[in-house]
Amino acid sequence: MADRPRLGRRELVGGAAAAAAGTLAGCRRVRPDDARTAPAMAAVRHLAGVIGPRPGTAPSYFRAADWVTARFGRLGWQVDRQRFPVPGGLSWGEPVDAGDSLNVIAHRGDVRAGAPWLAVGAHLDTVPQSPGAEDNASGIGVLLAVAQAVTWRRTRLPVVLIAFGAEEPRGPTDDDHHYGSRAYVDQLTPEQRRSLRGMVSLDRVGVGDAVVIGSAEDADPLRDELVAAAERAGAPYVVESGQRSSDHWSFVRDGLPGVRLGSTPYAGYHSPGDVVPVVDPRQLERAARVVVSWL
Ligand SMILES: [Zn+2]
Repeated sequence: MADRPRLGRRELVGGAAAAAAGTLAGCRRVRPDDARTAPAMAAVRHLAGVIGPRPGTAPSYFRAADWVTARFGRLGWQVDRQRFPVPGGLSWGEPVDAGDSLNVIAHRGDVRAGAPWLAVGAHLDTVPQSPGAEDNASGIGVLLAVAQAVTWRRTRLPVVLIAFGAEEPRGPTDDDHHYGSRAYVDQLTPEQRRSLRGMVSLDRVGVGDAVVIGSAEDADPLRDELVAAAERAGAPYVVESGQRSSDHWSFVRDGLPGVRLGSTPYAGYHSPGDVVPVVDPRQLERAARVVVSWL
């Protein structure tokens, strides 16, 4: 693909490997009832209500990234941060500056070279005119709820949780958005690519009363897995095809398995009206239950 961001610098910032592979062996398997809405709503209130608009290269974005890094760290996850360059442009009609953005990558130290693993991601940035409660503090909130549910519990495979920078568009083409997830896919080794069993993007997961499970193509084995997970979790869902407008697409367009959870239309989309009350904690809980059930 043209115009890919170059490989970013990675820096280790997390310390405690509280839930490292060895100590997880004695823990019980995680289940949907372990998902809590409190950490998800705390994220929505802080990101949308306190920090506000956070375009991927803005100082407010880095404050949001520091906050998410600290939350993962407090939950005992190890955190890497990947910096990558992003061009300036027009984001939903508003100018945004060129500069670096940042992916926050949390793991439990149990991903082994060549061994299967799973990824869950959500974009942390917003368009300039929106505090982004639903788009996408909701996704980050569910990501943190999943982190909390899983911390001291076993999953079927090692899991990596990623807050992506600069997902929102900075121009009209397919190469003008999803910068963070493309930078993340770019730095995966051939071995990591071969062993990735699925990536789920959480993007607008706090509106509506059924979880939207979307894939790029009509038939998608990973989407089927998420449908089965929703059924096990007792969460209402709807299935969608042709879904290419979130970070899972950076994986799929590079030949890797990816699906999106979320995208129910709502009035405040990409506007100053995307505020905390837009997000329904019950819908966050449904999405978190589906993800935990899949893990
Ligand atoms: Zn979004």
